Amino acid sequence: MPKPNPRHPNFPIPGGPALRAKGWRQEALLRLLENVLSVGEDPDSLVVYAALGKAARNWAAHRGIVKTLIEMDEDQTLIIQSGKPIGLVKTHAKAPLVIMANCNIVGQWAKAEYFYELQRKGLICWGGLTAGAWQYIGSQGVIQGTYEIFMRIAEKRFGGELAGRFILTAGLGGMGGAQPLAGRMAGAAILCVDIDPARAEARKKIGYLEEIAPDLDAALAMIDAAVRDRRPLSVGLVGNAADIYPEIARRGIVPDIVTDQTSAHDLVYGYVPKGMGLQEVRSLREDGQGQLMAASRASIVDHVRAMLDFQKKGSEVFDNGNLIRTQAREGGVTNSFDIPIFTEAYLRPLFCRAIGPFRWMALSGEESDIARIDDLLLEMFPDNRIVTNWVRLARQYIPFEGLPARIAWLGHGERTALARAVNTLVARGELKGPVAFSRDHLDAGAMAHPNIMTERMKDGSDAIADWPLLDAMMLCSSMADLVVVHSGGGGYAGYMTSCGVTIVADGTSEADERLDHALTNDTALGVMRYADAGYEEALDEVGKKDVPYIRLE
Ligand code: NAD
Repeated sequence: MPKPNPRHPNFPIPGGPALRAKGWRQEALLRLLENVLSVGEDPDSLVVYAALGKAARNWAAHRGIVKTLIEMDEDQTLIIQSGKPIGLVKTHAKAPLVIMANCNIVGQWAKAEYFYELQRKGLICWGGLTAGAWQYIGSQGVIQGTYEIFMRIAEKRFGGELAGRFILTAGLGGMGGAQPLAGRMAGAAILCVDIDPARAEARKKIGYLEEIAPDLDAALAMIDAAVRDRRPLSVGLVGNAADIYPEIARRGIVPDIVTDQTSAHDLVYGYVPKGMGLQEVRSLREDGQGQLMAASRASIVDHVRAMLDFQKKGSEVFDNGNLIRTQAREGGVTNSFDIPIFTEAYLRPLFCRAIGPFRWMALSGEESDIARIDDLLLEMFPDNRIVTNWVRLARQYIPFEGLPARIAWLGHGERTALARAVNTLVARGELKGPVAFSRDHLDAGAMAHPNIMTERMKDGSDAIADWPLLDAMMLCSSMADLVVVHSGGGGYAGYMTSCGVTIVADGTSEADERLDHALTNDTALGVMRYADAGYEEALDEVGKKDVPYIRLE
């Protein structure tokens, strides 16, 4: 039975034993599509997160996808082009059920303005990373990544802990909404600025944000008290970051860590320029795009100058994957890239070993299934400090949204071992239903994004998009259930290519084979990508785990 969804009553949370489709594989993908809308930011517009990241092109396309998933056989493959179902072809039972290509625009044309024009004509839609691929699991999807960044900074700068430290950030949307909880889990006092009161309220309602301050003075007083008491605290503040950051700097306050997760990548549908109300911005989105782009960029210039100012005064400042430095540079801030990107600064050694944001969703809708898999994780990886620490924290802090899900940063071999063990639990009836395995597109072999994932690669291969394309082809050959290739829309147009994958553990021996091939090959390619770029950690992993990388003489 679907469960009621207090945040979006028209989008119930899927679950229960009854199938509408002809098999669990198809039913699983249908539930994942329903799930991304149930936890999305604006499901009435099919928007899941990141300003414009959509689950389907339009409602007619959505209905077509749902109908096809319900009616299709296991030996067919549904083809989706930018959120629209195009055809259902006969393949075979080991082929993917769904393949997608979302928002891929030929190089010279891949610009924000051209994307907006195609979107207006109804020819394309942006899938974000996980939205269009039905892999989004709410703010939890990014929370461990954010937590691990904070902890790497703690190790680098603050003696391994963030108690008594002040983090300043902005953006409480689908992904940015993970920041207050990740900051609190890391032990810090974190201030999160968002221009939209509804976003702050939404995060408070689901338990990701503790307090909303009435104004800046009150917010700073709350943070100050928490820092003095070395007490973890998350505070939201409604305001424009391009006003608030410079004002905090003007007062001579230097936070320990500064970042930002507003939708700065999209100057029209994402970022809100200072001096403009939300209504005014919304009314300009269709007809005043040029004006909005100029105003957003001018605000981002002030926003990033304040971040650089904090950096000069000693704050640890980083870009959290929203292209804010890139927008600022285009606005004339020539030194915006003095701010490092989080991947290169803190996480690359993990990606070299293909350790990244793996996740799974309990298709039964039952939280007890996730609890059982948590236990399994602890049994299987007792010496993996990242995993054991994370499971303990996640159990304590993370409320479930939508289908119960868990994220855990696992690497090559580990993902396969866990997923196959879960498949065995499904087969034995020890879980209430099948489990879907997936990952963020921001993963070792799966993304080329020269200003986020692959910035300053050791061999200079930052912008080579062959890797995610190879990943997708390999995953189709490796029996994954859903395989997708995404490129950017809005401000990300021309900036990225990524690949996503989902595999369903339905307890069958066929699922065991699919999980084994797809997950093993996916992480192997991740290690190979970094080994090929010359990273020692990856070359070490090749040797240790027998990764089939071909070293040339
Ligand atoms: P979202 O659109 O759901 O939320 C963005 C939020 O920013 C909104 O709540 C909006 O009100 C707020 N905002 C916009 N302009 C503002 C301003 N000037 N001042 C204060 N608040 C403002 O987007 P999201 O899903 O939270 O993603 C945020 C950004 O992070 C995007 O650029 C996204 O692509 C990027 N992202 C990075 C990662 C990563 O791995 N680091 C992962 C996912 C998303």
